[in-house]
Amino acid sequence: MTSKSSLTCERLLTKAIERIGGDSPRLDAELLLGHVTGLSRTSFRAWPEREVPGEQCDEFDRLVFERAQGRPIAHLLGHQEFWSLPLRVSPATLIPRPDTECLVEVALTLPLPGSAHVLDLGTGTGAIALALASERADWQVSACDCVDDAVQLAQSNARQLGLPVKVIQSSWFTRLPPGRFDLIVSNPPYIAADDRHLDEGDVRYEPASALVAGPDGLDDLRLIVDQAPDWLNDGGWLLVEHGYDQAEAVQRLFRERGFGAIESRKDYGDRERMTLG
Ligand code: GLN
Repeated sequence: MTSKSSLTCERLLTKAIERIGGDSPRLDAELLLGHVTGLSRTSFRAWPEREVPGEQCDEFDRLVFERAQGRPIAHLLGHQEFWSLPLRVSPATLIPRPDTECLVEVALTLPLPGSAHVLDLGTGTGAIALALASERADWQVSACDCVDDAVQLAQSNARQLGLPVKVIQSSWFTRLPPGRFDLIVSNPPYIAADDRHLDEGDVRYEPASALVAGPDGLDDLRLIVDQAPDWLNDGGWLLVEHGYDQAEAVQRLFRERGFGAIESRKDYGDRERMTLG
């Protein structure tokens, strides 16, 4: 549909909310209209009668159509906020989740040396590494990802934010330069290949390589827990995110590999979603 004439914000939003449906149609519609018009979400409420020019109405219409089809809001906006940092996102990586901010919180509470060497394994957009670098200017934060597009994206996010994170292309530990870390942190793929959750919502538009890890979802966690000790300094920490029903299995992996001080931690939804040791 091509609209030649302008429409009011209110009219556009009402129609869009109906078409988008799902869990947060108002928020989604306001974010998309804000993206197209450059106006803030609060301005739509303060001035609902404001006219939006015809070309912007068309662009909004296109984005609403895509959202109604299920395209993630972050892909349509091109960015996602994580730890209050605006990160560029692309279909090459996982979209950073609020849950993963818990991993950052836990990392920041660990007793680490002042100039700690930290590695974010499988960094995607760079979210975890950048959040940590934004909080601890004295830490030396590195990040790796096996996907070239993810490496480029994380590097560009680091540049954009002016944060000194070194991003390396490496599938887990395979191509890392020799060295040891005080903290290795990771949000690896951990969904089981036959999980029905993979057919719903944003995950349908995210790369399987960032989500799926073998029949029980633990293939990558097994590898990481097994190899991490060879890359950790004495007294160093490994901290990983996992599924809500994997804490026991992941704790066992840590124990079998000789880790001490093993603990699982809860996410904002009160579920054990992280393990450290
Ligand atoms: N938590 C994400 C989800 O369930 C998956 C993230 C991951 O596999 N690392 O959608």
